[in-house]
Amino acid sequence: MSKKIEVDFEICEANGVCMGIIPEVFELDDEDYLHVLQDEVTPDNEAQVREAVRQCPRQAITIRE
Ligand code: SF4
Repeated sequence: MSKKIEVDFEICEANGVCMGIIPEVFELDDEDYLHVLQDEVTPDNEAQVREAVRQCPRQAITIRE
């Protein structure tokens, strides 16, 4: 089973903390909408994705296993 990143856009406040940690996955556009560029958790990105989960001030990011 692959692991997927999920963002609760209802509570995300678009502060960009996650993008600062791993911009390959999280991107804020010019209108401050957050996009998940790729939602798969891989061995390469897992440590940084988990750091983003930890540091998101709104706890808006989860990993579905
Ligand atoms: S760190 Fe959390 S609140 Fe900030 S943009 Fe990312 S998901 Fe949204």
